[in-house]
Amino acid sequence: MGKQTLNLNDALYKYLLSVSLRDTPLHRALREETNRLEMGMMQVSPDQGQFMALLVKLIGAKRVIEVGTFTGYSALLMAEALPDDGRLIACDVSVEWTTMARRYWRQAGVERKIELRLAPALDTLNELIAGGGAGTFDFAFIDADKLNLRDYYERCLSLLRPGGLIAVDNVLWGGSVANPDDRREATVAIRRFNEFIFGDTRIDFCMVPIGDGVTLARKLG
Ligand code: CA
Repeated sequence: MGKQTLNLNDALYKYLLSVSLRDTPLHRALREETNRLEMGMMQVSPDQGQFMALLVKLIGAKRVIEVGTFTGYSALLMAEALPDDGRLIACDVSVEWTTMARRYWRQAGVERKIELRLAPALDTLNELIAGGGAGTFDFAFIDADKLNLRDYYERCLSLLRPGGLIAVDNVLWGGSVANPDDRREATVAIRRFNEFIFGDTRIDFCMVPIGDGVTLARKLG
């Protein structure tokens, strides 16, 4: 047995899901409808969604911000993990994708916990900071365009309370970050971000090889 993280083949991943995924018919329906979209692969994996919902509960989060909502799967799972008076601010620019998201949030009975902001996420984050929101959020999930990754991170860090948690998605980018010949803009942006956060003394952190790679960063007090 090696020291590095086990490489999940299809059979083992299927097994992992079969003994761990606590799913609902609604979760499955949203995943399946999303998978039929051209961009369906942008959806977080079900095990990652369950992992983030657990994190929300573990830190006792009441205020969550999501940068990049897509069809709403991660927001649905996090909203379900929030207490009744919890709030999730969901940032996205797509009417089409978030209309689908809202349909599922409504069916799940969590729509009242979610405030959708249809605007460029940087505008929404800046507005929240200008409105006195700094230090008031418990959890942030960043899963949007990669070129603005560092800017999203800086703003989310300022919105978090000390001890709050940021989860950044796609930090392994399908493995391409380890290929020096891959010089696509998004790959370079993620690689730079990973190097930056490694040296960021404002946080404790860990890079978790779940889904497409998730970096967890805890804001120091
Ligand atoms: Ca993603």
